[in-house]
Amino acid sequence: MDFNELKEVIKYLKKELPCNTCNKKFTNKDISVLSCYNHDAVLHFNCTQCGNQLIVHAGLEEETTTTTKLNVHAKSAANITKNDVIDIHNFLNQFNGDFKTLFPTEPN
Ligand SMILES: [Zn+2]
Repeated sequence: MDFNELKEVIKYLKKELPCNTCNKKFTNKDISVLSCYNHDAVLHFNCTQCGNQLIVHAGLEEETTTTTKLNVHAKSAANITKNDVIDIHNFLNQFNGDFKTLFPTEPN
């Protein structure tokens, strides 16, 4: 996704995806973009209020030529460290874009 799409996705996530532990809304400084690949982005959310962390995959799916659907999968990453984030970032730099394997669609 390009920069404008990414900006829109983050705006949407800030509105629709509060912290799943303390319900605080995330702000820009809580969110890091780990990777962008084609229509997908992986983000790291760090709640400054309760310390909860989420890894979020957001994928844009073109439904028709004028409408796009956003698919969001979030995973709690309770004990993630700064180094883990760097590792994920490095991993995603080599990543082949197979988000279906990385984020299986079964409900948690
Ligand atoms: Zn929280």
